[in-house]
Amino acid sequence: MKLQLLPSTFEENGCSSPRQHLTSFIIDDRVAIDAGSLGFAASELQRRQVRDVVLTHAHLDHIAGLPLFIDDLFSELEQPVRVHASQGVIEVLERDVFNWSVYPRFSELSNAFGPVMQYRTLCPGVSSPIADLEIKPLAVNHSVPSNGYLISSGATKVVLTGDTAEMDEFWDQVNAIENLKALLVECAFPDELEELAQSSFHMTPTRLRGELEKFRGSSCPVYAINLKPRFRERTIAQLEALGINGLEVLKVGAPYEF
Ligand SMILES: [Zn+2]
Repeated sequence: MKLQLLPSTFEENGCSSPRQHLTSFIIDDRVAIDAGSLGFAASELQRRQVRDVVLTHAHLDHIAGLPLFIDDLFSELEQPVRVHASQGVIEVLERDVFNWSVYPRFSELSNAFGPVMQYRTLCPGVSSPIADLEIKPLAVNHSVPSNGYLISSGATKVVLTGDTAEMDEFWDQVNAIENLKALLVECAFPDELEELAQSSFHMTPTRLRGELEKFRGSSCPVYAINLKPRFRERTIAQLEALGINGLEVLKVGAPYEF
């Protein structure tokens, strides 16, 4: 399984920056998990191939690129972009984004080939075939209804939390997975912003250490994701200071093979 976190910001020289304002992971150049920067950072191959977009939740940094992605491809889509999400997230998208005021309601529009966007409802704990993958939502603990995902490609299994605070049931489900190849867990804020992390349902390095004590996959690599760009360096330094074997920060833009 190939996994890439798309870049979302640029340095003064125009090259992509490791700072991550928006979240969008691309699996096998074909399936997007979240669509924060999908509309403007996807490669040409990804633009041609990605027709399934799986959303963790409806916060702007995870969906901002979705309307732009469909807009850009509107006339050439030979199949709809399928948006896979919980019913609650779909309702937010229809009410607050694709509402004819913020953007057109693409779910009601077609091009010469047919509909350009369709919704597929995902239910917690129920696995769905999406492209060549099996994707199972795992409920997490964020300020709005949110899912993490177990993503399976053949025998390869990867779990991604999306945005979340502390969890219990999630870890029971993850600990039951055999042969997990990678675990991607958010760590948005540094420790000194503990209060903000708590009120916004995010992690800090210290909170992450507590969560990883519940995780029994000791040989499985763990990647920190969704670091707030403003505090990235401090958060990385604090994660390194934890001295946890196998824990590293997922590199923005780099392709990973699991
Ligand atoms: Zn969020």
